[in-house]
Amino acid sequence: NQVQQADVVIIGAGPSGAVAASLLVKKGWHVVVLEQQTFPRFSIGESLLPQCMSFLAEAGLEQAVQAQAQSLGFQFKNGAAFQRRGDHTTIDFTEKFSDGPGTTFQVKRADFDKCLADGAMQQGAEIRYQHSVLAFTDCEDGALLDVTDENQQRYQIKGRFVLDASGFGRVLPRLLDLESASNFPVRWAFFSHFKDNISDPLFDREKILINVHPEHKDIWYWLIPFSDGTASIGVVGKPEQLNDKQPLAGLNEFIEQDSYLSELLANREAIGEARAIKGYSANVSSLYGEHFALLGNAGEFLDPVFSSGVTIALKSASLVAPLVDSYLRGEQVDFKNDYSEPLQQGVNCFRTYVSAWYDGSFQDVIFYSEKNQQVREMISAILAGYAWDLQNPFVKQSNKRLNTLVELCRD
Ligand code: FAD
Repeated sequence: NQVQQADVVIIGAGPSGAVAASLLVKKGWHVVVLEQQTFPRFSIGESLLPQCMSFLAEAGLEQAVQAQAQSLGFQFKNGAAFQRRGDHTTIDFTEKFSDGPGTTFQVKRADFDKCLADGAMQQGAEIRYQHSVLAFTDCEDGALLDVTDENQQRYQIKGRFVLDASGFGRVLPRLLDLESASNFPVRWAFFSHFKDNISDPLFDREKILINVHPEHKDIWYWLIPFSDGTASIGVVGKPEQLNDKQPLAGLNEFIEQDSYLSELLANREAIGEARAIKGYSANVSSLYGEHFALLGNAGEFLDPVFSSGVTIALKSASLVAPLVDSYLRGEQVDFKNDYSEPLQQGVNCFRTYVSAWYDGSFQDVIFYSEKNQQVREMISAILAGYAWDLQNPFVKQSNKRLNTLVELCRD
């Protein structure tokens, strides 16, 4: 069988794959995306951050998303709400330090990911559904992938460059032995969609609700409302905290332990399948090689608490695409200096706030009622996804600034 050829082969048509494909076809390259599933398909990761919208605009996909928001009713989102033992607070993303969009959407990922993939296809990317990547061989002038198609026929395709956007599939980390342990402990999540039947007039559907367990500060819940009266609800904790319960029974049990949530969600009705994800944090020893780079979750995945996953995935696509373009044009490219390190800078900023969330210190900042407005806007910018804005002191010196703030809030 003849080996097929493309300039860029992308593994996975999730958000990072679709955005990278759009950016590269716009530069005139022949891009083939291999996606093992058919779309629409379920994915977790339903609350976007406003920073995402700039990456979608850059890839020419924002209009498609805005159109779908109208027709499918993606839920408008302008911030995050927090609840802990009866204390409520909100962060409004439109009041933020960094420039850029201040609003976004809460999306059922089946619809959102299909919208991005269709948009990439309309721009000229070739997407092959039910094509699964099985092996990777590095060659002198690119990389060869072994693939099975929808009829289980095996073929080979060579890309001058390969982008791994396979998310939790982690195709190249597994095949190339790049897996490395996350510095976060193993956590699990139980989640499901519900018809929420929320009748509390104070409940704001335009914000994700992040709810801290009344007794265990390292257990938290998400409540992501959609515009059709349904919501995604999940609980996150360590394995010994969640135990070997069935996902729906476990989730319901945790909801009942929090008086605010149990009242708010008293009339909830579960829809579809409840699921569990166990041990999702992951890292790699390198984000690139001679003929490949890892995007989004195929690289590092931190933690779901601040909904940074899709934003990091899109940032990775936005950073890598111009470098791949230069590489294909025969220019010298420094993936360490221009991809891995700048991506890591924002990921490390999120890491600071995620770690401080679990030890409770950032929770104390969030629930502190007398925050100065300027500081509030700097924190808001980070939670809106602007973790690469080095003008923001809480980004540039995240550990130092956060520690000072924690001391102030705890005095
Ligand atoms: P994905 O979206 O996972 O896409 C990867 C694609 O690759 C899939 O379509 C898959 O079918 C395909 N693939 C896999 N293997 C192969 C193969 N061998 N061959 C071909 N194709 C393959 N993020 C947020 O932004 N907001 C949230 O609210 C949020 N909540 C989360 C809650 C939990 C509990 C968890 C675990 C994560 C959450 N995330 C959230 C993170 C989010 O799910 C991911 O960061 C995001 O989906 C990553 O996008 P991606 O493009 O890297 O990969």
